[in-house]
Amino acid sequence: MEQFDVVVIGSGPGGYVAAIRAAQLGLKTACVEKYPTLGGTCLNVGCIPSKALLQSSELYHAACEELDNHGVELPEVKLNLGKMMARKRKVVDTLTGGVDGLLKKNKVTRFHGLGKLLGEGKVEIAGDDGVQTIAAEHIVIATGSKPAALPFMPFDDEYVVHSTGALSFDKPPKKLLVIGGGVIGLEMGSVWRRLGTEVIVVEFLDRVLPPMDGAVSREMKKTLSRQGFKFHLSTGVTAAEVKDGQLHVQAKDKKGKTLSFVVDKALVAVGRRPYTDGLGAEEAGVALDDHGRVVIDDHFRATAKGVYAIGDVVRGLMLAHKAEDEGVAVAEIIAGKPGHVNYAAIPNIVYTWPEVASVGQTEEEVKQAGVPYRVGQVSFRSNARARCMDAIGGFVKIIAHEETDRILGVHIVGANASELIQEAVLAIEYQASAEDLARTVHGHPALCETVKEAALAVDNRAIHV
Ligand code: FAD
Repeated sequence: MEQFDVVVIGSGPGGYVAAIRAAQLGLKTACVEKYPTLGGTCLNVGCIPSKALLQSSELYHAACEELDNHGVELPEVKLNLGKMMARKRKVVDTLTGGVDGLLKKNKVTRFHGLGKLLGEGKVEIAGDDGVQTIAAEHIVIATGSKPAALPFMPFDDEYVVHSTGALSFDKPPKKLLVIGGGVIGLEMGSVWRRLGTEVIVVEFLDRVLPPMDGAVSREMKKTLSRQGFKFHLSTGVTAAEVKDGQLHVQAKDKKGKTLSFVVDKALVAVGRRPYTDGLGAEEAGVALDDHGRVVIDDHFRATAKGVYAIGDVVRGLMLAHKAEDEGVAVAEIIAGKPGHVNYAAIPNIVYTWPEVASVGQTEEEVKQAGVPYRVGQVSFRSNARARCMDAIGGFVKIIAHEETDRILGVHIVGANASELIQEAVLAIEYQASAEDLARTVHGHPALCETVKEAALAVDNRAIHV
């Protein structure tokens, strides 16, 4: 039986990063993945294909609606969805192949097959060529998550799909019902809306992007409505059936009124569930909580000796970069180093147009905690670069402690928010004050000047407002 120092089960952003970091630290490492390609949800059916389609659909929309405004006239814009999908596949293939190369370069042994915990440091791998068992002093569970389903509306891959189905429609549906106004619902809704689909979003809570700052949710509902999205908030879907080649969906709003929708397809985007099917977790003494997540302590240790868990399969935000940083931290802990993740400084990004990005606490959270605070909020309207780009929608909102001025939260709606937020992440990581941001020279003309203006606005002294 081959013996390793570390065996990582799962090759998503948590697993492959943990494996590489462990190997860098001189540990003999293996990575077990049940699918033929590496990279997990993120690279194969998540972050990457969705961002590839968001980019392509944004260009298509710009060609149809915006280039003319810049004096760029095109004879006729045509959608070639097959080519768009082929490009998406190429991006995915390149990146998943890249992970393969990285594992090889770092001398991580790769096993293809379903990994099962046998207890006492042993992992069984059931692959195409049969079953084998390997042993390891340390085992890292990084088995990720799967889309959650609605009990009365099972996925059928034709009418009722999850995010993976919505990444591969062979033509834009005429009408798409998106159930869930969170990140995945709004991102995938944006792709198809830009390609001509009528998109209706039903959200159970009273706002879109529920965990985000209220100002962000309001702005995004307004902006996406202008883009043609139709929203039904405080509304829950109750039933669905296929009749005459269409999906008939019933919903109820908070006043008890019944709503009916007849659509071509429904994307169920109501969240994801931790994935431990076939892992043999509980038999091996690895406890799961009520949500099916692997229970861990502050050092990623599960309840069985020598077993750790990271990423979507444990508590916390289901985000690729959270999984990656946990991957690094767990490998360092296993190697006897002080691995650590700062959960207060994890950015949360939505790649709609405009983009949304936030880090730290929302105003609602600060208020509820009874912390005295001040807010600086500045719109991109006053930003010169945003004018040049025709991207004046959105704002930067900075929440700082009223007495210490320490930055508590930053919320951005606007072009390139996904990149702009990193300045705020660093500020929170270094426990910076709004004054620190306000006194930092920002290049001109640049969108990031609005971050500086919002920091000035915390002290009521923005220049360009
Ligand atoms: P996963 O990526 O889910 O990887 C787990 C791996 O383990 C899988 O490859 C699985 O096959 C394998 N596995 C499971 N069980 C076994 C077993 N028993 N044996 C062997 N292998 C096993 N996050 C972001 O940060 N930014 C984004 O823009 C973003 N966009 C997203 C868009 C969509 C449509 C979706 C669905 C998700 C998106 N996410 C995004 C979330 C992100 O994909 C996840 O948070 C991330 O992939 C979690 O990483 P992980 O390593 O924990 O698990």
